[in-house]
Amino acid sequence: LLEEIRCIGCGSIIQTEDKEGLGYTPNSALEKGLETGEVYCQRCFRLRHYNDIQDVQLTDDDFLRLLNGIGQEDALIVNVVDIFDFNGSLIPGLHRFIGNNPVLLVGNKVDILPKSLKRGKLTQWMRERAHEVGLRPEEVILTSAKKPNEMESLLKTIEKYRKGRDVYVVGVTNVGKSTLINAIIKSTAGVQELITTSQFPGTTLDKIEIPLEDGRFLIDTPGIIHNFQMAHYLGKKDLRLVAPTKEIKPKVYQLNAGQTLFLGGLARFDFIQGDRASFVTYVSNDIDIHRTKLEKASEFYQKHAGGLLTPPQLDEVSDFPELVRFEFSVKENTDIVFAGLGWITITTPCVVAGWAPKGVDVIRRKALI
Ligand code: GDP
Repeated sequence: LLEEIRCIGCGSIIQTEDKEGLGYTPNSALEKGLETGEVYCQRCFRLRHYNDIQDVQLTDDDFLRLLNGIGQEDALIVNVVDIFDFNGSLIPGLHRFIGNNPVLLVGNKVDILPKSLKRGKLTQWMRERAHEVGLRPEEVILTSAKKPNEMESLLKTIEKYRKGRDVYVVGVTNVGKSTLINAIIKSTAGVQELITTSQFPGTTLDKIEIPLEDGRFLIDTPGIIHNFQMAHYLGKKDLRLVAPTKEIKPKVYQLNAGQTLFLGGLARFDFIQGDRASFVTYVSNDIDIHRTKLEKASEFYQKHAGGLLTPPQLDEVSDFPELVRFEFSVKENTDIVFAGLGWITITTPCVVAGWAPKGVDVIRRKALI
């Protein structure tokens, strides 16, 4: 009898055995569905309710096929990035995949950057960084998926460049793409009922299609997993501490050469050489910063990781990757970026080292602020 029941979302045959398989529905949900006459598989149920499409590895064949597929369409590409983790949000080679399609670069989470930061300066900085990796966006805009009043100008800009075409929204995981799509859906009242899911041809990946007024679609693609993001090394609780939810309060430290800052137990910054100078940290307000002597810093970390220096929590220390050192000789205004955690701004020539858990990038970039 079960064979006869199909998901009203995607049409796959409902089954209750194989959790990973097509059409899987937990028994309890199936019973409920039968009562109301609306049976969804778990995947479609989740899609309807949380916009929870499965994320994919950057190297997945499916994903590469998907990107190539987009290149063959005539569409507007909306690339969502997290301006707090800009470098971790870039999709390597995106410009090669999307063909001649125009790109809008959308910097999300503007709400967590200090208000003193001028928007024009930030978008100019983003444009320059995009150019460095071969991406030439038509326009760079800032938004916050958490601020409904930001949606109007985002939608207007999309409409301006869409010119009657479909819109593909792409981004790596954690940039807030789902939150943003949900906010878009909410602000275009009424369409909520119309959301459909379908598969990219030749892939096993789902996309979500949100109908637009002219019969075109805004298409949400799966999030792309970047392995070197800090997020992959932390437990849920720590992640909440690390990812800022409120406006970041920059902290200024006057340091002498030979001093070290610990960003919780997650990262370390050594001031090796140079005149006494100020260093400004931009990390979540919930992360405690400790200053020590450079020569004692490794010993200090051994002793206090998981205690004075958290996250990681004490019971996570044994599994936590060791910190790996990257040295930089800095000449002008520079950010030393700890992927996904934040950055430290330097304004005077000096030699420094940044340490991050093995697998997490530490890079230098032209100062954002
Ligand atoms: P996705 O993986 O790109 O779909 O990202 P999600 O939509 O799941 O968001 C990742 C995290 O960022 C969640 O904790 C969101 O609450 C948070 N987030 C998303 N958009 C914003 C934003 O505009 N501002 C802030 N502060 N947080 C956001």
